[in-house]
Amino acid sequence: MIGKILAFVFGSIVGSFLNVCIHRLPLGESVVWPHSHCPRCQKKIPTYDNIPFLSYIILKGRCRFCKGRISPRYPLVELLTALAFVALFNRYGLTYDFMVFMVFICSLIIATFVDLKHRIIPDEISVGGMILGFILSAVRGFNLRPFIYDLKPLFNSLLGIIIGGGIIYLTGKLFDLIYFKLLKRPPIQGETSSMGWGDVKLLAMMGAFLGWQEAILIFFLAPFFGVTFGFINILIKKDHTLPYGPFLSLAAIFSLFWAERIISLFLHY
Ligand SMILES: [Zn+2]
Repeated sequence: MIGKILAFVFGSIVGSFLNVCIHRLPLGESVVWPHSHCPRCQKKIPTYDNIPFLSYIILKGRCRFCKGRISPRYPLVELLTALAFVALFNRYGLTYDFMVFMVFICSLIIATFVDLKHRIIPDEISVGGMILGFILSAVRGFNLRPFIYDLKPLFNSLLGIIIGGGIIYLTGKLFDLIYFKLLKRPPIQGETSSMGWGDVKLLAMMGAFLGWQEAILIFFLAPFFGVTFGFINILIKKDHTLPYGPFLSLAAIFSLFWAERIISLFLHY
């Protein structure tokens, strides 16, 4: 019980840092300096107003100085991170896997919320995460006594990058060929390609962490979320364009926790 509570508290503190990354990475600002400011009145946010969830509730979602609204994204990201850390702790305990997938889920949360707001996925997350995921996976191959290096995790991660990135890239190219060349449809909103490089790099990053099999699973799982949310979005809003990164991320979370169950579900029916 105490472990879960600690995981929750630690997760909410990390979530508060992820909020800083979500706000600053797309602006090209440093995530460690300077101290957080209110985006409206520019006043420095005191440490006692920076407590995850509690500050938001106490201040009723408004800045202490200018009373400007604070986005509900802040407590939401803190809560999601905290819950994810508890789920990881339940599954892995304090192990190497806990640390690796903690890094992975943090990357997904940043990618999701930046993509929702700016329609981009920062390279720091996709490319940086891909390199980090590859290194963290390759390290699994080390065995100290006797000293052996097993190449399997390294190749699994490398194939995850190639297949994960490749499968989206090729699908996009195929779609362009059919849509623009064969059907001769005009580009929508000036876009000449249906494929976003951000999504290619994001699925490659997921492959680096989870391996090639789960990269394929994510590829097939993400459209289900896309269609479901897309439909809800059309019903409640006029805007019918949605970024794809959040659906890939949601599929990656499902894959991380329930890959075997999902695969057996499809194989049995
Ligand atoms: Zn303010």
